[in-house]
Amino acid sequence: MAGTVPGLILKGPGLRPLTRGHLWVYSGAVARVAGRPGPGQVVRLADKANQFLAWAWYSPESRIRARVLSRRPEEEFGEGWWAGRLDRARAGRQALEEDPGTGAFRLCNAEADGLPGLTVDIYGRAAVIQALTAGAEGIKDQVALWLKERMGVELVYERDDGQARRLEGLPRSRVLLLGTGPRGPETITEAGLKFQVDLVEGQKTGWYLDQRVNRRLVAAQAKGRRVLDCFSYSGGFSALALQAGALSSTLVDSSARALKEAKTNLELNGLAEKASLVQGNAFEVLRQYRDAGRRFGLIILDPPKLAPTRAQASKAGRAYKDINLLALKLLEPGGVLATFSCSAGVEPGFFQEIVHWAALDAGLGLQILARLTQPEDHPILLGMPETEYLKGLICRPV
Ligand code: SAH
Repeated sequence: MAGTVPGLILKGPGLRPLTRGHLWVYSGAVARVAGRPGPGQVVRLADKANQFLAWAWYSPESRIRARVLSRRPEEEFGEGWWAGRLDRARAGRQALEEDPGTGAFRLCNAEADGLPGLTVDIYGRAAVIQALTAGAEGIKDQVALWLKERMGVELVYERDDGQARRLEGLPRSRVLLLGTGPRGPETITEAGLKFQVDLVEGQKTGWYLDQRVNRRLVAAQAKGRRVLDCFSYSGGFSALALQAGALSSTLVDSSARALKEAKTNLELNGLAEKASLVQGNAFEVLRQYRDAGRRFGLIILDPPKLAPTRAQASKAGRAYKDINLLALKLLEPGGVLATFSCSAGVEPGFFQEIVHWAALDAGLGLQILARLTQPEDHPILLGMPETEYLKGLICRPV
């Protein structure tokens, strides 16, 4: 087979990340293309001596020219081979799928689940697919059918994140892949609470699934406290905190739409009375609260990606430091700060350092009560630091 399938011959220096577990091959590492592979086709990666390295999905338009699918030479890529990957991914989420308190989870997390660029989020009877590589593009319609046949999913939307598909030379795509629309928001459960999620217009694929476990862990700190939920989006942290016995919660977000959804979600669960919604720039709102002498017992900081790549890390570092410093100044004695970064460019050690700088500037010592990360349905692939993006600290001034 090796002689007939298209392949990429790689240069020596380009091999190092690959041999250390990374899945991406940049264009500069490609010495030669053998045969005429098309976008999304499986290609054979080999070194200059034509020794097999791996099988990969080919992306002729992208700087990331190929993404590894398997390092086993005998791997077969017949019709529907990818279904085996989805089965494996699903098996890893069995507990979530069977949990009646959890109606939404990520079924497939792209590279970390062996299908580069393909994410599949399950929202009850509906699903959202993102196909961000040429390889994922090639299978997305079949994946939608698989979701229907194997999991009883009735509605499959496709969303894109704006940038990634463009870099792959793929058109924007926001369509209903399967089922009949239009439909209103889906109602999902999390921690036994109900949330309305707009799969078509909402941020990300509608809901920050990656904070599911962290919302529970942070809510465990909420009892008897006044909560400040910064970057609240549609109210997930606040709803769980109020359910856990918080005295009140102030939600701050710059998006009017997000706050409208938060209001609906809090009302759905009979929690709206203790909540106040503030539309504004969290950096400014926190400054105003500081000047007004306001205090809170639990402050949550979950800002958007401030540094998508390592290159933006130091600029983002200043923004993270500012917001953490402001939050520390608003904490009442004995209060708790739950602070997050979802920037892949800011590594966990660096994030901890930033929070430390903020504490030093505030003249406070800080205890770490918990280090938080991604939940099990957003696995991290060792050897590929980009797959670890979410980190958080629950901490308390001492
Ligand atoms: N904590 C949320 C997710 C937060 S996502 C959850 O668990 O669901 C980040 C949120 O920050 C988005 O809702 C976005 O609208 C908001 N945002 C972005 N920039 C902001 C700013 N400068 N001030 C306040 N909110 C902002």
